[in-house]
Amino acid sequence: MAQYEVVIGLEIHAELLTKTKIFCACTTAFGGHANSHCCPVCLGLPGALPVLNEKAVEYGIKAGLALDCRIPERCKFDRKNYFYPDLPKAYQISQYDEPLCLGGSVTCETETGLQTIGVTRVHLEEEAGKSVHSGDNILGSEYSSMDYNRAGIPLIEIVTEPDLRSPQDAKAFLEHLKRVLQYIEVSDCKMEEGSLRCDANVSLRPLGVQELGTKVEIKNLNSFRSVERALQHEVTRQSQLYEAKQQVEQETRAWDEARGVTVSMRSKEESHDYRYFPEPDIPPVHINSLWVEDLRSGLPELPLSRKERLQRQYGLTTYEAEFLVSQRSWSDFFEAVVQEFDQEKMVVNWLMGDVSRVLNAREETLPQSQLDVSGLVELLRLIDTGTISGSQAKAVLEAVCATGQPPADVVQTLGMQQISDEDQLAAMVDAVIAQYPGEAQRCREGDAKLIGFFVGQIMKGSQGKANPKMVNELLRKKLKL
Ligand code: ADP
Ligand code: ZN
Ligand code: MG
Repeated sequence: MAQYEVVIGLEIHAELLTKTKIFCACTTAFGGHANSHCCPVCLGLPGALPVLNEKAVEYGIKAGLALDCRIPERCKFDRKNYFYPDLPKAYQISQYDEPLCLGGSVTCETETGLQTIGVTRVHLEEEAGKSVHSGDNILGSEYSSMDYNRAGIPLIEIVTEPDLRSPQDAKAFLEHLKRVLQYIEVSDCKMEEGSLRCDANVSLRPLGVQELGTKVEIKNLNSFRSVERALQHEVTRQSQLYEAKQQVEQETRAWDEARGVTVSMRSKEESHDYRYFPEPDIPPVHINSLWVEDLRSGLPELPLSRKERLQRQYGLTTYEAEFLVSQRSWSDFFEAVVQEFDQEKMVVNWLMGDVSRVLNAREETLPQSQLDVSGLVELLRLIDTGTISGSQAKAVLEAVCATGQPPADVVQTLGMQQISDEDQLAAMVDAVIAQYPGEAQRCREGDAKLIGFFVGQIMKGSQGKANPKMVNELLRKKLKL
């Protein structure tokens, strides 16, 4: 293997989060009875005319800008002709030679360091419908039914340059891209649900050679893991062909997840096979550069720069910052909490530890949960002032997430409120002083640090319920500090 270089380029499809389809007013909502989210346009009935959804264009431009692309001032739509039952018009409206976005690049972190990957283009197109086979697969089926609810949902296709050099890098790039699209809120990128899909092109070439080798395109990759595994398998298969002095056929292969192999689907189709021609029902689109600049200035900070800033600004470790940027909701939440409670380390520890644990157990994401910024701030203050102990705080957090009650109310309900009765506290103070006469003596002689030790003992003895401020004052009085 050492004498070959791996060359990979990806073609990624992402469903856009518009409320309606790209060329009609039908809803994009997930589910629904088969064929209930359809109209003459998305069913391809004769005479129905498409009308371009402005939001789809906006989301496409945002994606292009986040990937550092140029947005030409004009783009157009084309018909890509092929025959398949999930395609009601027998052509897909796509963009061929004048796409929405061109010539970008993305920098992402991989196991081999920072890599910059060229983005050839980003274009808009429509989603196809879904075949539902009566049996397990098409061959074992007596009949198939068609559901066109998904037909006409807007997609962006992102095409990269053949700049990736290993299956691991390809996976890291795809994960980064997903994060970027989620940050800018144009796609939810759920690979399991098909809203993010990837075709991977791979070839080998002898080290030092500039010219690209013959590529194979792999389809049917529906998880990040399968992208990496399929590419790894294909690299091995191709290198064995080279070793045996055999040709790599240019073809499209499908990944068989269960068997862990790629299988030949068809010899590679060329673009002329699709008989592309301009879509006559949609005029070319002129993109106002002021609109583009508006969208550019509205883009949020992207994950990689946010990660670097979080480390710098709050003194977080790489690991902590990586956790926070893994989902935009975590970093937004973190930054909102530290605005009001400035102990960054404590905040990030709670988010990575107990908050994550509780949310995982509840199978909720942060935005879905009943924990809000003011709730966590209140909880951390209760801990910080010693009103409740760390272990009590865990129970309070669980109750907040389950009921949505504010932490202070939970503390009341669970009977965790602190002891502030002076006589009761004085008795506790006397008891620990009697228990640790040596420490008490050193304290009286001026070793004020030992106060902390006594406060700790009393907090522990009272299961965190003693009022720490009052305990502190009483100790100082009794030890004459
Ligand atoms: P096609 O004409 O087959 O669609 P393109 O040139 O449009 O090929 O490229 C499609 C994808 O394949 C792009 O992501 C590109 O980076 C990648 N690609 C092109 N040539 C190669 C190659 N020799 N090896 C690996 N990937 C390649
Ligand atoms: Zn419709
Ligand atoms: Mg192509």
